[in-house]
Amino acid sequence: MKIYADNAATTKMSRRAVDAMMPYIYDIYGNPSSLYSEGQRAKEALEEARRRVALAIGAEAKEIIFTSGGSEADNQAITSAAVGARKNKRHIVTTAIEHHAVLHTLERLEKEGFEVTRVGVGEDGVVDARDVASALRDDTCLVTVMYANNEIGTLQPVKEIGRICRERGVPFHTDAVQAVGHIPVNVSDDNVDMLSASAHKFHGPKGVGFLYAKRGVRLQNLIEGGAQERGRRAGTENVAGIVAMAEALDESIENMARDACALTRARDRMIAGLSKIPHSALNGDAARRLPGNVNFCFEGIEGESLLLLLDDRGISASSGSACTSGSLDPSHVLLAIGRVHDVAHGSLRLTPSPDITDDEIDYVIKSVTEVVAYLRSFSPVWRDLVNGQKQHIL
Ligand SMILES: *Cc1c(COP(=O)(O)O)cnc(C)c1O
Repeated sequence: MKIYADNAATTKMSRRAVDAMMPYIYDIYGNPSSLYSEGQRAKEALEEARRRVALAIGAEAKEIIFTSGGSEADNQAITSAAVGARKNKRHIVTTAIEHHAVLHTLERLEKEGFEVTRVGVGEDGVVDARDVASALRDDTCLVTVMYANNEIGTLQPVKEIGRICRERGVPFHTDAVQAVGHIPVNVSDDNVDMLSASAHKFHGPKGVGFLYAKRGVRLQNLIEGGAQERGRRAGTENVAGIVAMAEALDESIENMARDACALTRARDRMIAGLSKIPHSALNGDAARRLPGNVNFCFEGIEGESLLLLLDDRGISASSGSACTSGSLDPSHVLLAIGRVHDVAHGSLRLTPSPDITDDEIDYVIKSVTEVVAYLRSFSPVWRDLVNGQKQHIL
């Protein structure tokens, strides 16, 4: 059996998105900045894609800037707010569970003299909007809180935080990379000033995404050069990728209700099955999470070994985030919800596709159950737990 259960890392391109992009690779390859008709056809496709993307999130076309993906959009949003802020406004509020594209940008700003408050989350992996409100200061120039967490799938109270920020006149950015195309997102309902999204998380191509910046929000360009994207992002546009992104986004929204329903069923069946493994725990709130996210900790094992053995059984899964796996640091998200180092190392994230069958789900549950038992059979940590030399935490 082959089961791809790592859709939070990336998704397969949809047939419709591939078909939409092909003409712009082979036939309509003109530069959108050129004046002859070949270029103008590309330009029209680009602007049509911009209107579609804008409509999909309740924005206006002028408020969409195409980028190379979610990371660039996060970098540009946060850097713009910091660079554009008045000299006496050098404080930023965020959470402890953001994506590295946000966290590392903020770390750079800290070195440049900004002060960052990282609001913690509860054991449920959800930030309390009141904690964000109390972190605000007179010198706060930005609040950045993700829409849905990429590791544990928890949904954050974005609308509430947006309302608080608007009342206090503080710009609000949200990294909505895991949300757009999966759950309803609307920039005006959610009171956001800037929002990041990425095509490859909703069955579009890799290397393309967008930043929404509300009318009046000033952006700093990270890439200098030509006047593309109205001077906010230089470089010849990735026309084929952008057209495919618009198609993938429309398709995801058309299928959203059906897919979310199928994924919620799959998720809850998996959670029920994996919860039967002794000394295991679900990470993040069971209900306030993305339809397709399952994330567990198993005591006494290493997540990396678990992944390799699941791969042998045809299952593609992940431990923590793709960026963290491969390093020895446990996930900052799991630490933020109170998992201790040892336990955080034994984590597993499963983000299946909506077409997963019950048989496949049961195969995943059986495989994880067997592999966890096998790994524990020669784990020194597990032996200490069984002997009573260490206390069980889960
Ligand atoms: C994947 C992801 C990103 C990065 O997007 P890229 O397009 O891969 O650069 C940023 N934030 C979150 C929450 C993500 O899941």
